[in-house]
Amino acid sequence: MANPNPEQLVQIDYRPPRKDWMNPQVEFRKGVMCYSAAPKNLRYLDLPNPREWQPFDKDWKLPPDWKRIILEGMRDRLKRFRSFRLFMDICVRCGACADKCHFYIGSGDPKNMPVLRAELIRSVYRRYFTSAGKFLGNLAGARELTENVLKEWFYYFYQCTECRRCSVFCPYGIDTAEVTMIVRELLNLVGCNINWVLEPAANCYRTGNHLGIQPHGFKDSVDFAVDELEEITGVRVEAPINRKGAEILFIVPSADYFGTPHYYTFLGYLMLLHEVGLDYTFSAYASEGGNFGLFQSHEMIKRLNAKIYAEAKRLGVKWILGGECGHMWRVLHQYMDTLNGPADFLEPPVSPVTGTKFENARSTKMVHICEFTADLIHHGKLNLDPRRNDRWNVTFHDSCNPSRAMGLLEEPRYILRSVCREFHEMPENTIREQTFCCGSGSGLGTDENIEMRLRGGLPRANAVKYVRDTCGVNLLACICAIDKATLPPLLEYWVPGMEVAGVHELLGNALVMKGENERATDLRGEPLPAKEAPAHA
Ligand code: SF4
Ligand code: SF4
Repeated sequence: MANPNPEQLVQIDYRPPRKDWMNPQVEFRKGVMCYSAAPKNLRYLDLPNPREWQPFDKDWKLPPDWKRIILEGMRDRLKRFRSFRLFMDICVRCGACADKCHFYIGSGDPKNMPVLRAELIRSVYRRYFTSAGKFLGNLAGARELTENVLKEWFYYFYQCTECRRCSVFCPYGIDTAEVTMIVRELLNLVGCNINWVLEPAANCYRTGNHLGIQPHGFKDSVDFAVDELEEITGVRVEAPINRKGAEILFIVPSADYFGTPHYYTFLGYLMLLHEVGLDYTFSAYASEGGNFGLFQSHEMIKRLNAKIYAEAKRLGVKWILGGECGHMWRVLHQYMDTLNGPADFLEPPVSPVTGTKFENARSTKMVHICEFTADLIHHGKLNLDPRRNDRWNVTFHDSCNPSRAMGLLEEPRYILRSVCREFHEMPENTIREQTFCCGSGSGLGTDENIEMRLRGGLPRANAVKYVRDTCGVNLLACICAIDKATLPPLLEYWVPGMEVAGVHELLGNALVMKGENERATDLRGEPLPAKEAPAHA
C-alpha cells in the first residue's frame, strides 16, 4: 500500500481466517516488509551467505544445507539459553497475551498474537526436539521445517518490535521478544536479514556509530552545537572529546547529534553538563550508545558494545553517563555487565555534584542521564524556569526498553513536572510497564514497511489522541532515539499537529544558566512565551 489513508487502515478485520494456521503462506508486498540486507553489510560483519535477494523473490538463494544449519542452530541455542527451552515448553496457550501486541491490534492478523507468533517456531521445535512431535506430527502441534515456514518466520519475526509488552501479561513470564531474538539469530545463520538492522550494525563496527560518521565529522557536529548554544544563550560551553583523565565518559545515541528533534535534546545535555561543571568527555569512537546487535544476535550485541568499556578504560574515566535512548539501555542494563564486563577498572558511580551513590549502577558503572538530572533537581542544584516551556502541554511516552527493561518510570516524569507547567498522563493501560510501542523499534523504523509501522503504532497514537482531545496536549516527550525518529511521522498520520521532544530539550529550555543573556528563543529557535502569559497560551 503506497499511500495508505487512515480510513483504510482502521478497517481492521479481527475475524480469524478460515485456513489452518499451520499452513505457512505469506504475501510479501511493499508496505508490510523490510528489504533484505545489502551483501556488503554482511561482508563487513563477516556474516554468512551474502547475496542479492529480496523477500518477494521466489528464490531466496539459501545455502543448499539451510535446513541442517537452522536445526543445528536451534539445538545449540536450546542448550545455551535456558529461557529459550523454557519458552518453547511452558506456554499453556491461555491467550492472556493474545490481544496485547500492537501489531495484532493494528492488523487483526492472528499470527501477530504473541502466542501464535511464538507458535511458529514452537511447532518446529516440537517436530524435531520432542518425542510427541516426532511421532504424532500435526496432532501434537508439530510441523516440518520447510522453506515456506522459514519465509513465514522472516515475515512475522520482523514484525515484532521486541517490545516485551506481551510478557507483562503472561502468567508464566514468557518473553516473546526473546523468542524473536533467537529466531532472528537463526535466520541470520542462513543470510536472511534486513538492511535497516545490518547497515547501522556494519557502520557501527567500522566507525563506532550507526551513521558511519568519522571522528572529524563527530567533532564538527559537536562544535556546531557549541556555537549554536552560544548564539541562543550567550554562554560558550565546553564539550571535550577523547579527553584522557576526565571523571566521566558521556555516551549518547548518534541520532542525538545528527537527527531532529534529537539534536535539541543534545543541546539540553550540553547546557546541563556545563552548568553543573561536570568533568566529562565524549569519545569519538564510542560515539554511539545504540546497539543494533540487539536485533541481530547475542554475539553482535557483544561485538558492538565492547567499545564502551574499551574507551572508558583507554580514557581513564571513573564511570559512564548515558543519554536518552531506548534499546541502548536494554543492552546496557541487561547484557553489558555479563557480555562485556565486569568493568572492575571503573568505580561505582557517585554524582560529583550531590554526592549521591547510584547503587543501581554499582555493577555496570553506567548511569542514565534522567537519573542524574532528577537527582540534581531533587537536591536543588538547578535554577529552572518552567514558564519557558509554556507553549507546550506535555504528555510522556514511556519507551519500551527504559520502562520495561530497566524500570525507569519516575525520573523522567519528575524532570518533566519540574520543567513544564502543563503535564497530563495518557490512559493508565498505555503507560509505564504497559506502555505501547512506537511500532518501529528493533530495526523496523525504515520507510519500505510504512503500512506495517502505521498499523503497529495505532494503539500508541490512539492514546496520544485521547490526551490531545481531552486535555489539549500538543507535545509528546520521550527518552528514546528511535521514538524521536519514528513517532513524528506516526503522529503526523494519526494525530496531526502533535510534536515530539526529548526530556532534556525541555530541561534545556527551562534551565537558567549562570551568565546567560536574556533568552529570546527556545532551543528550536522559536520565540519564548511572554513571561506573564498563562501556560500554553
Ligand atoms: S500468556 Fe503466556 S502462557 Fe498464555 S498464551 Fe501467552 S505466552 Fe502462552
Ligand atoms: S514483544 Fe511486542 S511486538 Fe513482539 S509479540 Fe510481544 S507485544 Fe508484540
